[in-house]
Amino acid sequence: MNGNFRVGSLFGIPFFINISWFIVLALVTLNFGGGLAAQFPWLGGSAIALGLVAGLLMFGSVLLHELGHSFAAIQRGIGVNSITLFLFGGLASLDDEAKTPGGAFWIAVAGPLVSLALFLILSIVAASGLLTGPAATIAGLLAYINLILATFNMIPGLPLDGGNVLKSIVWKITGNQYKGIIWASRVGQFIGWSAIASVHYQSLASPISEASGH
Ligand SMILES: [Zn+2]
Repeated sequence: MNGNFRVGSLFGIPFFINISWFIVLALVTLNFGGGLAAQFPWLGGSAIALGLVAGLLMFGSVLLHELGHSFAAIQRGIGVNSITLFLFGGLASLDDEAKTPGGAFWIAVAGPLVSLALFLILSIVAASGLLTGPAATIAGLLAYINLILATFNMIPGLPLDGGNVLKSIVWKITGNQYKGIIWASRVGQFIGWSAIASVHYQSLASPISEASGH
């Protein structure tokens, strides 16, 4: 991918950050920081600094999700070429595909499982009363982000993790890896077209509100 900067290694895996990451980090910092400033006016200028911390922890959550996939792959003897963070997402690039449907299933599901575990831990921390003020707000926000990372990625269409889970299940049932890929790709295309159709429908359904803006 163009615009990737290598920033070191994690557990021996080359770690890259795409330039788009910095743009999103700036937007997220302003957005989170603005939200914290509105909720806690006494924070003053440090609200933006806390927004930056929240943004970095959000990307930390994406990174842990990718490390989940990576460790599951390494456990099965599959090398990880790189981990790259870009926009709101990440990508763990694997050396090879899993040899068995079980291996493919666990590599695909490991990332969402990490996100789900982080959601549960952060929710307990946020609800426990251990944290107060902005720290509690940030913990609640990160819990929500990790829930989104777990659920959105489990939508069962390729190239999402859920698509790889579906692929592994069809592969297991039929004994044919390519049938799994075809099914998961078709569902992915269907979900993609449905999303485009619903956006188009919404834009058709709202000309009045656009016109009333004048
Ligand atoms: Zn994933």
